[in-house]
Amino acid sequence: MKYVQSDALMQRARHSIPGGVNSPVRAFKGVGGTPIFFVSAEGATLTDADGNQYIDFVGSWGPMIQGHSFKPIVDAVKKQATTSLSFGAPTELEITMAERVVERIPSIELVRMVNSGTEATMSAIRLARGFTERDKIIKFEGCYHGHSDSLLVKAGSGVLTLGLPDSPGVPATLAQHTITLPYNDANALIQVFESHGNEIGGVILEPVAGNMGCIPPAPGFLETARRLTSEYDSVLIFDEVMTGFRVGPGGAQELYGVEPDLTTLGKIIGGGLPVGAFGGQASIMNQIAPTGPIYQAGTLSGNPLAMQAGIAMLESLDVTFYQQLANKTQRLTQGIKATAQRHQIPLVINYVPGMFSLYFTSADEVTGYADAAASNVDRYNFFFHQMLDAGIYFAPSAFESAFVSGAHGSAEISATIAAADRVFGSMT
Ligand SMILES: *Cc1c(COP(=O)(O)O)cnc(C)c1O
Repeated sequence: MKYVQSDALMQRARHSIPGGVNSPVRAFKGVGGTPIFFVSAEGATLTDADGNQYIDFVGSWGPMIQGHSFKPIVDAVKKQATTSLSFGAPTELEITMAERVVERIPSIELVRMVNSGTEATMSAIRLARGFTERDKIIKFEGCYHGHSDSLLVKAGSGVLTLGLPDSPGVPATLAQHTITLPYNDANALIQVFESHGNEIGGVILEPVAGNMGCIPPAPGFLETARRLTSEYDSVLIFDEVMTGFRVGPGGAQELYGVEPDLTTLGKIIGGGLPVGAFGGQASIMNQIAPTGPIYQAGTLSGNPLAMQAGIAMLESLDVTFYQQLANKTQRLTQGIKATAQRHQIPLVINYVPGMFSLYFTSADEVTGYADAAASNVDRYNFFFHQMLDAGIYFAPSAFESAFVSGAHGSAEISATIAAADRVFGSMT
């Protein structure tokens, strides 16, 4: 009985927490079985409540790009904890944080800190709407931008489908302002702009989609979004909550050479503490309060603990780090791919530096939501549970990316490829 304590904790959790968890994916509904409760983590290794250890490819869903218990961050947080936990008033730390972001991401001239990725995208959407005085926004199917009302919307079919709420509680009258298009479909975007361009306040997208597995942008897709939003005076928002400071020092916008008007950040910039940020051109950012009329605020925004963690994180990430991260991701994904081929398991692996995903499908490629959804989820779930039993923790959902960190060394990479080899062998 490997998971006795986790099972007991989950039973207890259900009595006082809805579904036993504070975020739905943690409940293992996608893969079945009982969630693992963790107690500690160091480097690439997680330890659960039963004392089992795992190589971690979730990394708290992205923030842990330096691995767990990264000393510079832990030290900075400890030191800050003895100074002040919160003032609700300005600190120099917030300036340092903003300067670190602005110097790394050239499209950001001014940046405002918030407390989650959801807050960042919600605020960026309000800003885009307020700035353009237009209500409609475009998002893409399979892109996740947090759970605010305007963004929790999916498409029906067709090029111009008015949004339907993805969840009870989201008013249809609000959701109808969100137009959802297929990811990587530049022609769909062109058609919507040709018919409704002057009503579009903003386009929000993940420049590498990471929430339907990992799907890089097709050549020309980001460029088309940039050209159309400029032509129609609409605001282009890159949601880099996942990709920011992951795929490279300047995020996906640097990797692909396309600059948005606004960028949202989160995850890595908090170093594991709850943080988000949104920033961009001064002409737009100055429209928010107190310089402008568009309201946005936060009691704990710019929290000193979170700023210390984020600053320590950003200062630890140099060009060499990203080169190594890219190499590791490539070695790992190519190793897994080769072993799948040997066992004749149809598998598409998509990857960019620091993130990847496995789609069990015989398709040649996975470029959007429909492709991802058509992959064999039962196979992923089998893979997930077999890997878990082998001491390797992948995301408990077929549609989440896996994350590589600086703490994954050759030993972890080899062990993961060897475990995948055994699992693929038992699939045939
Ligand atoms: C995680 C994520 C969010 C939401 O961030 P939270 O901190 O969970 O609110 C938004 N956008 C993207 C691209 C994300 O990956």
